[in-house]
Amino acid sequence: MNEDEKRLYDLIARRFIAVLYPPYKYDQTTIITEVAGEKFISRGKAITDRGWRAVQAGSPEQENRDSEAEPEQTLSQHAKHEQVNVKTVNINKHKTKPPARYTEATLLTAMEHSGKFIEDEELRESIKGSGLGTPATRAEIIEKLIRTSYIERHGKELIPTSKGIQLVDLVPTALRSPELTAQWEQRLTHISRGKEKKNAFIADIRKDTIELVNVIKMDTTTYRADNVSKTKCPACGKNMLLVNGKRGKVLACPDRNCGHRQAENEDVFGRKGNSRATQRLIAQYSDQEELGTSLGEKLKAAMEKKNSKK
Ligand SMILES: [Zn+2]
Repeated sequence: MNEDEKRLYDLIARRFIAVLYPPYKYDQTTIITEVAGEKFISRGKAITDRGWRAVQAGSPEQENRDSEAEPEQTLSQHAKHEQVNVKTVNINKHKTKPPARYTEATLLTAMEHSGKFIEDEELRESIKGSGLGTPATRAEIIEKLIRTSYIERHGKELIPTSKGIQLVDLVPTALRSPELTAQWEQRLTHISRGKEKKNAFIADIRKDTIELVNVIKMDTTTYRADNVSKTKCPACGKNMLLVNGKRGKVLACPDRNCGHRQAENEDVFGRKGNSRATQRLIAQYSDQEELGTSLGEKLKAAMEKKNSKK
């Protein structure tokens, strides 16, 4: 056998023999040491029988990998209330870290187990089997948030945009919480068990919808797009918005009826890129979802129009 084959053979043989060996035994030790009235905790293990580990190829590095994240330190045996001496004292400075940003994978998991974010035990139970969205729709919900510029992909991380943060501030509390979904799930379960009539549920959904829309209408906070550029739309003269297009930054007219778009580095006459005729075609047929299609924004736009007419 050559070197590699030998190593592989050894690995397989040792694994096979290890299966037949007795368990690996150790005592998990926690020692609480009191120094000047403060309690210090040390955790470690004292191996009592190496068992199957004795057969393992046995570099300590390998053992650590096998024992996963178990504490590596071995603590010597001590009796209760034993007096010990403090040899040295070190102060370590640490800072807490903010929670990690969501990645697509962790956000999907959070949506699946959204019950974690609910305090009420009964409600948490009712959302357990479902979460937010369904396995088929969750990925698409995230894609839509990206398409509509509520969140952006920065490498693996998902970062909320200013627009996304403002939306969360604008919508009524009920719509921001998985509790609403949990309440609906709970009532749907009741209906399926014959404990509640569907008409009452539908009536409540109607009532809630009217109330929520009214809350949004009454709200005086306004959405401020902070991606407004100084470049005026060549077609209608409004200040264009800087948005993320499929091929980099794009200037888009905020007026959906106008729909003019151009690459960020193009001048207003489109001299660097397409002819104006082509641009008009692109504007007409490209999706305009990046400009935002949320209910809140639509309502606000409608209200602002109405108010300005008065
Ligand atoms: Zn325009």
